[in-house]
Amino acid sequence: MRWGRREAATAAAVALPRTAVELREVTHSYGDRTVLAGVSLTLKEPRIGVIGANGSGKSTFARLLNGLVVPTSGAVLVDGLDTRTRAREVRRRVGFVFQDPDAQIVHPTVAEDVAFGPANQGLPAEEIARRVDDVLARYGLAGHRDHPAHLLSGGQKQLLAIAGVLVMRPERIVFDEPTTLLDLANTRRVARVIDELEQDVVVVTHHLDLLAGFDRVLVFEDGRVAADGSPAETVPWYVTRTG
Ligand code: ADP
Repeated sequence: MRWGRREAATAAAVALPRTAVELREVTHSYGDRTVLAGVSLTLKEPRIGVIGANGSGKSTFARLLNGLVVPTSGAVLVDGLDTRTRAREVRRRVGFVFQDPDAQIVHPTVAEDVAFGPANQGLPAEEIARRVDDVLARYGLAGHRDHPAHLLSGGQKQLLAIAGVLVMRPERIVFDEPTTLLDLANTRRVARVIDELEQDVVVVTHHLDLLAGFDRVLVFEDGRVAADGSPAETVPWYVTRTG
């Protein structure tokens, strides 16, 4: 059988196993300001935390992992796919949850919002309906399916944003400060949701207690990885250094 380029590319992407996200000598600049410099990492642990002061480059790093930002020099490879040239496939593999769910919620009702991603992927209507029902039930949003999304509470909005990513079944999810805007009860709820995910996750956070039980924590400082190890090693080091 002969394949066009597009079919061959899709088949190749599907066949690639989940291996790692690899950063090779990644530097990123906004204009003439360099905010990440020479970062080389291989990420394969199921639970990775990212901490560091404001402005240290965490959010830029997070955005590099699914191609929202591409490196100024160096490369980011997701299971071997270069984010610079294979952005569409990379985004199918790596979902992204923003700090502010309002940045992510774009459709008027809860169910429409969740259906948007899979519809965009071209899935059949019944499959979309099934996935939307599943994910809304999972996050206690089924009773809100026809409600205006903007009337949800802050915690419910963040769950809706997570639902909108999960419904596309990515293999990894990057969270950029998912609990910063939430009260304590919702922070705990979102922490539990993250904990229960079968996907690999990368979580940028200032809530250090979210990281207990994580496999690996990266500490960013001035656009570089200043520490990289278990939470038991890195979190106290960061706290002391900040203190
Ligand atoms: P963090 O998440 O650790 O706060 P960021 O990656 O958001 O760090 O930002 C690193 C630096 O890059 C900051 O000084 C920030 O002001 C700057 N920066 C972030 N995004 C942009 C942008 N789109 N344009 C210009 N500068 C930016």
